[in-house]
Amino acid sequence: MPLSCCRPDVVPLDKILPDEPLLMMGAGPVPIPQAVAHANSLVINHLGPTMARVIDQVKQMARYVFQSSSPYMLGVAGPGSAAMEMAVCNLVSPGDTVLSVVNGYFSGRMAEMARRAGGNVVEQLVPAGLCAQPDDVERALIAHHPKVLTIVQGETSNTTWNRMLPEICRVAAQHDCLVIVDTVCTLSTMPLEMDNWGVDAVITGGQKGLSSIPGVSLVAFSTRAFEHINNREHAPVQWCLDAKLANGFWNESKYHYTAPTSGILALHEALRLVCAETLEHRFERHLVCSEALQAGIEALGLELLVAKPARLNSVIGIKVPEGVNPDRVRQVMSDKHRVEIAGSFGLSILRIGQMGEQSRAHNLFRTLDALGSSMRECGAKVDVPHGMCELARHLAQRSGAL
Ligand SMILES: *Cc1c(COP(=O)(O)O)cnc(C)c1O
Repeated sequence: MPLSCCRPDVVPLDKILPDEPLLMMGAGPVPIPQAVAHANSLVINHLGPTMARVIDQVKQMARYVFQSSSPYMLGVAGPGSAAMEMAVCNLVSPGDTVLSVVNGYFSGRMAEMARRAGGNVVEQLVPAGLCAQPDDVERALIAHHPKVLTIVQGETSNTTWNRMLPEICRVAAQHDCLVIVDTVCTLSTMPLEMDNWGVDAVITGGQKGLSSIPGVSLVAFSTRAFEHINNREHAPVQWCLDAKLANGFWNESKYHYTAPTSGILALHEALRLVCAETLEHRFERHLVCSEALQAGIEALGLELLVAKPARLNSVIGIKVPEGVNPDRVRQVMSDKHRVEIAGSFGLSILRIGQMGEQSRAHNLFRTLDALGSSMRECGAKVDVPHGMCELARHLAQRSGAL
């Protein structure tokens, strides 16, 4: 019998992929270390003793990276957004009031997830270029008595940093409000102290600060949060994201769904490299690299999007000079320099990531040269040698951190 759909005429991957891989300097995914790539090429039994040891170590390392002694360190097969949805749909029940601090696109996504979980969501919009203020949050806590607060540490879409996050978490805890923090782009690039700050759920993806592969994520719940989950009247509708079922796999060796073993092995290696580097050194490396790159960009003659107090270091936003087409700049960077950076959702800006392996001196030089040369080719007045010089000067001053 003839088949009803004909065989497609496809080419092998090497005909699609560029001869020289692009240097991924956008807002994620980011380059991964060799150990992560190798681990990702392996498949093991998802329930055997080898997996049990891997899971045990991933949880230990996650506790260090999240700075938490909570037993509830859960992996998620899915993007950062799946981890986000897992936190939201397990902590928000229909009818719960939720306060969502919204700085931009991703923090807005959490508010939307809380609405879909049946929450009565109050959005607190933070004006562009500013960070959320504890006083404003406290006023909203008093006015609305939310059960859950959602907030992002670094808003990747417009490159703002909620610098006052620790104070905001403390205020929320005083008002008996559970706090969900999105650290997808910031985890392991800057301090995050889950227990000390009183955070109830921290979510992250693999492909940004941790320099692992996309598609396997982590969420950590506090013991207080997990009590709420255990006392829920109804299970969340999302079966795959049910935290109790996930906890069965992550803490009780039970089958939930077939875990993405390769991706978890990759995550294991990414976390191991964070532990080997130590958080202190890793934070310092990210700070030095990002600030040096920012200085280089300004020395080119370009303007950064966000003023210093609320500027995110893990993703740098750059204003595009009038008359210059940002998409064309990215095209030239990609075609001629093999460097990929990001545009943004509707804003006329370019974004360069400083997450994980992106924060290496050699990547900064290549990226800044590519940006400057491509800007010039697209009509911007930039001083490339001056930019490169400032980058080198800043890195030399603090070379001990690299
Ligand atoms: C990238 C990102 C997300 C979404 O992660 P996905 O893996 O694309 O789902 C959420 N929040 C922040 C802050 C991000 O940077």
